Amino acid sequence: MRGRRRLARGRIASRALGCPAPSATAARYDRGVPDCLFCGIAAGQIPATIVVDGKRAVAFRDLNPQAPTHVLVVPRDHFPNVAALAAAGDGLLDELVAVAREVADAEGIEATGYRIVFNTGQEAGQTVGHVHAHVLGGRPMTWPPG
Ligand code: AMP
Ligand code: ZN
Repeated sequence: MRGRRRLARGRIASRALGCPAPSATAARYDRGVPDCLFCGIAAGQIPATIVVDGKRAVAFRDLNPQAPTHVLVVPRDHFPNVAALAAAGDGLLDELVAVAREVADAEGIEATGYRIVFNTGQEAGQTVGHVHAHVLGGRPMTWPPG
């Protein structure tokens, strides 16, 4: 219930927010880890197409989409991966999954199905060290993944 109440305070945005790009030398963001791309997006200091703008989590479109819907859900606070996020507790992992479901609903793929992926570590293909859930859908998917 706590998570739901928090989610209710979020809002769906259908277009990119007019976030200013950071200057070439500004590697520090108002909050979060210096030089972390997703801390910068969550702080509104790096532009992204925001889909859900919540109190503790943000969803935005992947720059290099692998499916008709490809949205990333991140906590505003910095955690390197999903294991660290789970260890921290506080319901934030639940909230990320709830936002993923909210995205699927808004994108019209909740009924047809969608995939939530947390790439964790090098061999899994994690390239950004700020935990993010990929929400993928809008086409049939194969298994096993590559
Ligand atoms: P992963 O490889 O699991 O760490 O996922 C990182 C994802 O971030 C990739 O799917 C990238 O396409 C995506 N990405 C990288 N830079 C940006 C950005 N500036 N805005 C949105 N998505 C990005
Ligand atoms: Zn970060």
